[in-house]
Amino acid sequence: MDNFCRYCGTKLPSDAVYCPGCGKMIPIEIPAPPGATVIISDEPPEGFMMPPEKDLKK
Ligand SMILES: [Zn+2]
Repeated sequence: MDNFCRYCGTKLPSDAVYCPGCGKMIPIEIPAPPGATVIISDEPPEGFMMPPEKDLKK
């Protein structure tokens, strides 16, 4: 996937930090990697234990 300078349209190398055409700084867009979505789970985390009920009646 090619990047082009949003200011002057110069084709940019993938690792470009500055546009070679106009010298503008290239905003880094980091696409969200798959699997990075927030995981919403109803399951308690592993090792999670409910606190023991207090036995006050003895
Ligand atoms: Zn440019």
